[in-house]
Amino acid sequence: MDALLHAPRLNPAEATALAQQLYGVDAEAALLPSERDRNFALRTAAGDRFVLKVANSTDQRALLEAQNAALQHVSRSTTLCPRVIPATDGQMICSFTPESGTRHFVRLLTWLEGEPLASVQQPAPLLESLGTAVAELDTALEGFDHPAIHREFHWDLARGLVVCHGIAPSVADPSLRELVLRLLGRIERSAALFARFRRAAVHNDPNDYNVLVTGETITGLLDFGDIVYSYAVSDLAIAAAYATLGKRDPLAAAVSVVRGYQRQRALEENEIDALFELMLLRLCTSVCIAERQRQLRPGDDYLAISQGPIAATLPLLAAVEAADAGSAFRCARGRTAEETLAARRRVVGRNLSVAYRHPVKIVRGWMQYLYDESGRQYLDAYNNVPHVGHSHPRVVRAATEQMLVLNTNTRYLHDKLARYAERLVATLPSPLRVCYFVNSGSEANELALRLARAHTMRRDIIVLDAAYHGNTTTLIDISPYKFNGAGGEGAPPWVHVLPLPDTYRGKYRRDDPRAGEKYAEFARHVRNPGAFIAESAPSVGGQIVLPDRYLASVYAIVRAAGGVCIADEVQTAYGRTGTHFYAFEAQHVVPEIVVLGKPIGNGYPLGAVVTTPEIAASFDNGMEFFSTFGGSTVSCAVGLAVLDVVEQEGLQEHARQVGDLLLERLRALLGEHPLVGDIRGSGLFLGVELVKDRATLEPAAAEAADISNRMRDRGILLGTDGPFHNVIKIRPPMPFTAADAEHLAATLAEVVSHR
Ligand code: PMP
Repeated sequence: MDALLHAPRLNPAEATALAQQLYGVDAEAALLPSERDRNFALRTAAGDRFVLKVANSTDQRALLEAQNAALQHVSRSTTLCPRVIPATDGQMICSFTPESGTRHFVRLLTWLEGEPLASVQQPAPLLESLGTAVAELDTALEGFDHPAIHREFHWDLARGLVVCHGIAPSVADPSLRELVLRLLGRIERSAALFARFRRAAVHNDPNDYNVLVTGETITGLLDFGDIVYSYAVSDLAIAAAYATLGKRDPLAAAVSVVRGYQRQRALEENEIDALFELMLLRLCTSVCIAERQRQLRPGDDYLAISQGPIAATLPLLAAVEAADAGSAFRCARGRTAEETLAARRRVVGRNLSVAYRHPVKIVRGWMQYLYDESGRQYLDAYNNVPHVGHSHPRVVRAATEQMLVLNTNTRYLHDKLARYAERLVATLPSPLRVCYFVNSGSEANELALRLARAHTMRRDIIVLDAAYHGNTTTLIDISPYKFNGAGGEGAPPWVHVLPLPDTYRGKYRRDDPRAGEKYAEFARHVRNPGAFIAESAPSVGGQIVLPDRYLASVYAIVRAAGGVCIADEVQTAYGRTGTHFYAFEAQHVVPEIVVLGKPIGNGYPLGAVVTTPEIAASFDNGMEFFSTFGGSTVSCAVGLAVLDVVEQEGLQEHARQVGDLLLERLRALLGEHPLVGDIRGSGLFLGVELVKDRATLEPAAAEAADISNRMRDRGILLGTDGPFHNVIKIRPPMPFTAADAEHLAATLAEVVSHR
């Protein structure tokens, strides 16, 4: 603690000279508050900012090396902490010896924007964000170690009781002394729980002056000077302890921090039980160390900066029972996956299925990755709804910014609706020029049927076998996947089912160059069709690639019989198949009606139907069409942002390249395996069909389910589908990279061969 007597005595002019000499940085220096070092904010004429840290002369070089290594380690997974900038000679740690004689080590760090948490209002969401930031830091520190952090250090909470017992009797203020001594007695009772805590490298000082806030989010965590190998839960205890200061309900403040933390990282039971006592221990330690420091360096305000609030809040905290705090923290944890499943079973319809033998509980998504409640990352290779990536910031921003201003319906004029419709039709070939906006693929298909029927005045619909078009009564009636499946009641008389043009196991195979035309011939048997509806690449049907000329032939037959053609692009739109923006384009056709859903809102509920002016005119028969939410201002803002991202990030071409690579790898690694019957698809819309026997094509459904479950256990999310449930579906969010493709193919090959 006598380090305070060895703090560097450097003034701003000297700091400016030092920055120039060591780092070639020309900057004005301003002193920053610090306990034992001397830190300067540097600002260059161009406005670039840095922090020059001149260490206490008692600081060991090894500890500074440990801090640098920790900063480097965490920078791989978080941007919350500063980075170390090398000197002009390449050194990460320099030294400087003033006239007075003692050497100080010097480092230059990047500047982080934001103001100290201590100087802003701290509503619950900000405190939750603090908890999440600390969890992010702890996760980023995982796997980090350095010999210098295994040290005897008075701020180490694992030594807290010893340190406090040594000083508490000499605390000058009698009532504070009495309170601290009483609290130490109480904390002592949790010592057995402390002893079982996990250990890890921890920052050890995320107090409210070391945490930076910009707006409503935490943007920085500073000062690794107290880094130590200690209780893994220390950072949370410290952040939560300082968050209680000055609050009318300090426990509620701590609960917010703990809630945010547990959203990102799991705590163990004994950690939850003793967390509050560890928070108390930190505040007692602060009282005691400040007392000792006051004795050493009277009149230094920075040391006492937290003491007023601590003395004011400690009595309120002392009134909280450890058990009550534990249960409040436990409630803030949310539920385990098992508890969530049990709760869901009680109150949610049972036929909403849950994927995987061991269901995944996902709490966060980022581009092609999902994260469970313990922070485990999964590669999402299944979800085609978050087309441009889970939580894509551009889409999130468009939605939130619009929601802050206006969200209303289509009966008022707003430029976003017109703009979105203009942008959408510009992606489609002529004469598809008229849009309608709804809230899901099902609603869009419902509307498509109404449009077709209004235009043709006919009721009969032609569909493909194994198709799924949505969850409404009418759509179940036109979805063989449902009406021929469990609980289904078969096809109504007005629905006509054509065989799925599956050239792997259907009647006409790939060796038949006229398979497309031959499958189309089945449409001739249907009299007076109102419409033909099909996915341009059937997905639920088993990731089917339609044979050449199939849609052209079938469309010609249907049109000749007076029907219109509907392309259900709910699964395949927006460049997913790589070669074209819409999958029907690969078949060289233009449907009369295009149905859009899933990807166009990137997870926000958006559906759209685009048709020809003639059909739109037939539909405009006097009855108003209106959807309360369809085409809302926020929907249009989201729809526009998704289109922007798809175009500006070149996602279609990306899907083509990564998809080609993935197909190639899958074929190379799995093509010869007897269980693998077929590998097909285009872009990031692929299927791997499993068979028990390559000659009979007997479907290997149980094997497919098992493989999908074991891939989940290995951190890759896939699904199975097809009429026989034996096709592994690969349809990741479009940011899926070449490295993800390699990883997926290699893991799948391993899982398939170790059966
Ligand atoms: N059409 C197709 C081809 C689909 O795959 C789906 C959904 N899986 C739908 C329509 C229905 O869309 P939603 O679930 O958004 O109503």
